[in-house]
Amino acid sequence: MKKFLAILMAVMMVLLAVGCGGDKDPADPAAPNTDLKLNVGTGGSTGTYYAYTNVVGTTLNAATGYSFNVLSTGGSVANINGIEDGDYNMAIVQNDTMIKAYNNLDPKNFPTPITSFSVMGEVYSEVVQIVVAGSLKDTVKTIADLKGLRVSVGDAGSGTEANSIAILEAYGIDTTKDITMQNLSVGNSADAMKDGKLDAFFFTSGAPTTAITELATAMDVYLLSISDDVSSAFIEANKIGGYEVFSKMNITHDQYAFIPEDAPVTTIGVTATFIVSNDLSEESVYNMTKALWEGKDEIALGHAVGTSMDVKNAVITIGNIPVHPGAAKYYTEVGVM
Ligand code: GLU
Repeated sequence: MKKFLAILMAVMMVLLAVGCGGDKDPADPAAPNTDLKLNVGTGGSTGTYYAYTNVVGTTLNAATGYSFNVLSTGGSVANINGIEDGDYNMAIVQNDTMIKAYNNLDPKNFPTPITSFSVMGEVYSEVVQIVVAGSLKDTVKTIADLKGLRVSVGDAGSGTEANSIAILEAYGIDTTKDITMQNLSVGNSADAMKDGKLDAFFFTSGAPTTAITELATAMDVYLLSISDDVSSAFIEANKIGGYEVFSKMNITHDQYAFIPEDAPVTTIGVTATFIVSNDLSEESVYNMTKALWEGKDEIALGHAVGTSMDVKNAVITIGNIPVHPGAAKYYTEVGVM
């Protein structure tokens, strides 16, 4: 009898394990697999990736039943390497970083091509933000005036760092000797500026960014513009495969109250895209993609960058990166692919 019970228990445990690992509850094939737990790579905890993805995670969880463990990370480079290493199942990244990783165009951050991910959908535009301490308003009027100052170019290996160094160089600043360069996250940059230890910092991110909004309540800050000719040259020089990854964009009073209504800041932008591990099933990614776009109004209520989400733009600037089959199924259904 004991032996029979032991065999029965073992059989039940195997059945249970099979049920958990599959895409569906065998008792109710229409029910979502609530056992799917995803680790999601974002950025610094006071950046836009983290705040926005938390909102998205809540919406996706309500629609799919999957759990989204939204993690603070160093940003795009760390996220892509994290998917490759199996640490994350999903992440949000800058398109320029993503395209370079996939095509082996940035061997410093990605020694070999990373092809273990695919696109779930482009969600909003990130802008290059250059924040300067208000006390420097009369002396620092253009990016060239940052010469000799203490400037953070973003986390080491972040998408922000790559953009900042290229822009400073376009203004004739050699980051190894013309500035006191620091590699700080956006949160640490804001703290250092508050403490009088930093003059300016870069952050490529969706605006408004929590850390910048909060900093502006504690002290006077302003943003520097990138001139029209430097923007044009940057866009041209950073074309990947003939495709313009960057575009000219403005940051306005609507995003930060400290920007005058009649004087928007001119800068460049790049798209932020959700990517997923190729290991995720077609069904899971289909459900997540559908929940993302059907939940876009709710997401917009949770974070301002959500207001610019448009499914028509979901797969237009991704270069040669494959769209995950589950996402592609949804985009085909709604006629955008
Ligand atoms: N785009 C930034 C990066 O990857 C992070 C932006 C954010 O956290 O909002 O470097």
